[in-house]
Amino acid sequence: MPTPTHCPYCALQCGMTVKPGPAVVPRDFPVNRGGLCQKGWTSAALLNTPGRLTTPLVQGRPASWDEALDHVAQRLLELRAAHGPDSVAVFGGGGLTNEKSYLLGKFARVALGTSQIDYNGRFCMSSAAAAGIRAFGVDRGLPFPVTDLSNADAVLLVGANVAETMPPFVQHLRRAIDSGGLVVVDPRRTATAEQAAVHLAPTPGTDLALALGLLHVAVAERYVDKDYLSERAIGFEETWEVAARWWPEQVERVTGVSAADQRRAVAVLSRATNAYVLTARGTEQHASGSDMVSAWINLALALGLPGRPGSGFGCLTGQGNGQGGREHGQKADQLPGYRKIDDPAAREHVAEVWGVAPESLPGPGKSAYELLDSLGVGPRALMVFGSNIAVSAPRSAHVTERLAALDFLVVADFVLSETAVLADVVLPVTQWAEEGGTMTNLEGRVLLRSRAVTPPPGVRTDLEVLHELAVRLGQPAERFPVNEESVFAELRRASAGGVADYAGISYERLRAGEALHWPCPDERHPGTPRLFLDRFAHADGKARMVPVDHRGPAELPDDDYPLSATTGRVLQHYQSGAQTRRVPELNAAVPEAFVEVHPDTADRAGLAEGDVARICSRRGEVLAKVRCVQGMRIDTVFLPFHFPGEQRANLITNPALDPISGMPEFKVCAVRLEAVT
Ligand code: SF4
Repeated sequence: MPTPTHCPYCALQCGMTVKPGPAVVPRDFPVNRGGLCQKGWTSAALLNTPGRLTTPLVQGRPASWDEALDHVAQRLLELRAAHGPDSVAVFGGGGLTNEKSYLLGKFARVALGTSQIDYNGRFCMSSAAAAGIRAFGVDRGLPFPVTDLSNADAVLLVGANVAETMPPFVQHLRRAIDSGGLVVVDPRRTATAEQAAVHLAPTPGTDLALALGLLHVAVAERYVDKDYLSERAIGFEETWEVAARWWPEQVERVTGVSAADQRRAVAVLSRATNAYVLTARGTEQHASGSDMVSAWINLALALGLPGRPGSGFGCLTGQGNGQGGREHGQKADQLPGYRKIDDPAAREHVAEVWGVAPESLPGPGKSAYELLDSLGVGPRALMVFGSNIAVSAPRSAHVTERLAALDFLVVADFVLSETAVLADVVLPVTQWAEEGGTMTNLEGRVLLRSRAVTPPPGVRTDLEVLHELAVRLGQPAERFPVNEESVFAELRRASAGGVADYAGISYERLRAGEALHWPCPDERHPGTPRLFLDRFAHADGKARMVPVDHRGPAELPDDDYPLSATTGRVLQHYQSGAQTRRVPELNAAVPEAFVEVHPDTADRAGLAEGDVARICSRRGEVLAKVRCVQGMRIDTVFLPFHFPGEQRANLITNPALDPISGMPEFKVCAVRLEAVT
């Protein structure tokens, strides 16, 4: 039977149908309107991937499920007894369903009693989330449906290469593109920047100065919406005090973006009837990422965009369940419903749903990189679900060393990822179309992913794994349901009254095709596709402009490392590549790492097109084939981060953390380019 479902990869969550074969075909769904990218079209290949894990592995040898689970439970109990509950850590993922994210957080806090849980969404959306909460009082990536963008005359896209990362999204920018209203901020001349009327290519790590400069222009040229500001926001005067020092020529000196281009960009945005500012990882993955996003929000507020029908501000979520995955408790400081774990009322509410005492719940743990950095020193055991940290974490050689320093590593995955290879125990689990569950897409809409194919014999769902382990750790069996609908019913109660309130969203309503965006507090509520139309979520209903200043990247180029490296995605691959490198068509298209370099920069390093380059930073070196690209800045190189071994871009990235969000500085570090002799 053909089964309607959604793509296994990114947060656009394109609608597709899985047919016998299995094969996938696109279906008409608002975000993709019948389109899919190459990753989506080829996703059925994942269901028959060679090397699929179907038997648990204990120290690399096949074992029965009982043997593997007994062994895991025994080791966790031993370590906990010897070193305390925080000696066991948990690492989740932004691709896990809402049900898995929820049960994983509950498993950590209740069955293990550990505070040490975080997830790879920390590496993805944390700066955007921190800035959104600061400005608007709530973090929902897009506080409006994607389809609203189709009526925009102008869109400022900051650090997003949607033409490669989510191609079906581009159709919603068509009007802006055709009317000369697309402005792209990106140090690279990407496929998206090629379509822009104005492309601003700042020196990597200087976006904040650029945002201040655009705000300065908006004020100087009288584009600021004063009525909107007096009615809907506070903090303009303090924000202007900083922006006043960033006149366009000063910004040009720091960013390399000409004053004329700054003025053109602001004019495009300000003269539009309907305009949006959208940010993504390019401007967020910095040690000052939260402030960078705040600076773009300040610009949007000054122009009167957020919460105005037909206009707005939003952040483009990356991972498949990057939105839902950050709402239900797998984050170090969080309980379900986007509640804070140090809020007594939140603890009481969730503890009651879980049937435990509030005081038994641990407090906040460490953010993802801090957690990984402490492995073997703090936590002695780590359980990983839905993440391939050996490839995706910054300073990855160091992270791999920390993984090796553990007494015990458990990985649940459906393939032997680079992290699973290092594990003491590997648990083979179901993937995507083999299991049911819900995802929350980049616009806060909750989607049903139905089971479309029968999983291979021998694998279990993550929910079954958590249930079996919880029972072995002494928990009542009914406290950890294995049925996704039962887990979701509990999640609804746990989220009720929270910021991300799912109480009114049911599988029945989703099966009936209702478009339900959170918050949706009861079953008669229609959901909330558009936030902020009347008020922002702060107590006084007003948005906050936050005075932020440029401070530059944590590591500047110097004589030894004279270039800036930035990292990102390509069309054919997704995240660490653990899935897409196993899809023959995608792997054939882009089988190995490359480094994009301006031809003059390559020449100065004694390199030419197709040569293997060594890219060295203070943390390590990567090998990649040279691609000479005329549009690259001469001071910058670009590497995709999907490849393992000596091609891992994260061997060189800088784990300098944003002090507010814990986001590492993936997007800029100082490097040297060398020929491999
Ligand atoms: S990867 Fe993203 S853009 Fe491509 S088909 Fe899947 S959901 Fe759509």
